[in-house]
Amino acid sequence: MMSLVNSILKNIGASRAARHQEKEHGRYGDNLAAVGGEKKPTVAPARWDKPFLRSLEWKRYEDVCMEYLRIKNCHANVTCIGADGGIDIKIADPTGKVFAIGQCKSWNRPIGVSLIRELYGIMAADNVRHGIFLTTSEYSKDALEFAKGKNLLLIDCDEFVSLVNNLDEISHKRLDDMARAGDYQVPTCVKCGTKMVKRTAKSGKNAGGEFWGCANYPKCKITMHVKQ
Ligand SMILES: [Zn+2]
Repeated sequence: MMSLVNSILKNIGASRAARHQEKEHGRYGDNLAAVGGEKKPTVAPARWDKPFLRSLEWKRYEDVCMEYLRIKNCHANVTCIGADGGIDIKIADPTGKVFAIGQCKSWNRPIGVSLIRELYGIMAADNVRHGIFLTTSEYSKDALEFAKGKNLLLIDCDEFVSLVNNLDEISHKRLDDMARAGDYQVPTCVKCGTKMVKRTAKSGKNAGGEFWGCANYPKCKITMHVKQ
C-alpha cells in the first residue's frame, strides 16, 4: 500500500512539473488549441486558484482538505474541532494504526514555527512518524527551516491549489462540486456547527462595523471577524 505521504509527495512532484510546463507553454495553450477547431469536453471542473481557496469559509476548507485526503485513499479521520477553528487530522492505516497526524488552518496570517514545533512534539510523544500541515496561508521562514529534513509536510495555499488542479478529472470534479455546494462562504459557528449571521456592532470599539455572530445568539455568543 502506498502511504499517504508517498502519494502526496508524488503528487506534489507532478504538480511542480505541471507548473513548470505551464510556464514553458502558457497556461491557456490547450484552450487556444480548442478554439483552433479541436473540440474539447466542457464538463471539466474549473481550475482552482488562490482567491477561490481563500474564499472558502473555514469549515468548508477543512472539509475539502479531508476530502482530498480521502481521495488519496487515506483513512482520514476528523478527531476534534478546536475553538480556533483548527482541526486535528489523524490518518490511520487499514489496521487502525495512526501513521500521520496533522492540522489544517484557514488563516490569513502566516503559520509560525511554534505551531509546527507543537505538532512535532505531539508526533514524538505519540510515536507517530509523519506530520502534515495544511493552510490557506503560508509558513514563516522559521517554520519552513524547522521542517527541513523532518517527516513534516507543510502544504500552503499555492501547493494545495496545485495538488487539486493536478487530480484526475473525476476526483477534481468531486472535490469541486463539494467545495461549491450551497453556501460556502458564510462561516460556520465553531461551537454549534450552524451558519453564522452578519451583524452590525451597536456599541463598543467596533461600533458600526460588521461581524459574524452565531445564529443561536444569545444562547451562543461566538463571533468572528468578517474577512476583508
Ligand atoms: Zn454558536
